[in-house]
Amino acid sequence: MPRKRPEDAGLYVLYLRITRPIRTRVLKLGYHHFEAGDYVYVGSAGNGILNRLHWHCRRTKRPTGGRKIGKQWHIDALTVHDAVELLGVIENRVVLRSKRRECLWAEEVRAAVAGGMPVPGFGSTNCTLGCDAHFWRVTNGVPPRSLARKVGGEWRPIEYCLLALRERTGRRCGRREVWRRVERGTVRYG
Ligand SMILES: [Zn+2]
Repeated sequence: MPRKRPEDAGLYVLYLRITRPIRTRVLKLGYHHFEAGDYVYVGSAGNGILNRLHWHCRRTKRPTGGRKIGKQWHIDALTVHDAVELLGVIENRVVLRSKRRECLWAEEVRAAVAGGMPVPGFGSTNCTLGCDAHFWRVTNGVPPRSLARKVGGEWRPIEYCLLALRERTGRRCGRREVWRRVERGTVRYG
C-alpha cells in the first residue's frame, strides 16, 4: 500500500533572521560569512512541511532511523546556530512531480526578495535547472506576509507552526523564547 501523502506536502520558504554577523561552515561548501539580516531558503517537503519544520527547529541534528550523518542539508548549518532565528514558513501545497517546479518557484522567490546570494551552491546541489542557490538574503525588506502573497503561498509564523506541532506530537519543540511569546500572548503574526 502506498503511504498516504500528507496534506501539507509541497514547497516551502523557510524565513530566517540572522541576528549578528556570523562565520560558519556549510558542509562541503566550506566556511562562509553571513551578514545580519533576513534570509529565505526554498525547499520541498514530500513528508509534509510541518514535519520538515520540526527538523529545522532542532538545535542538534541527531541521526535518526539509521541515517549516518547528522547534518543533511546546507541549511542545517544555519538552523543549529544560536544567532539564527526561524520566523516561520511560507507554504505552497503543490503536488511534487519534479524538481523543476521547485526551481521555478525558487526563481520567483528570489526575484521577490531581490535576493543577494551569500553562498553559491547553497541548497542547489540536486537542481536540474542549474540554479546558483536556493538561499538568498532579503535585500528589499519585503515582510514575509507580503512575500507569501507575491509568490502564491500562505505565511505561517513560527508560533503558529509550533502550536500545530505540539498538537500533532504532544510535545513542545522549538526555541524557549518562542514559547514564552506564545504563553505571554505576545505573538506576532507579521
Ligand atoms: Zn533549483
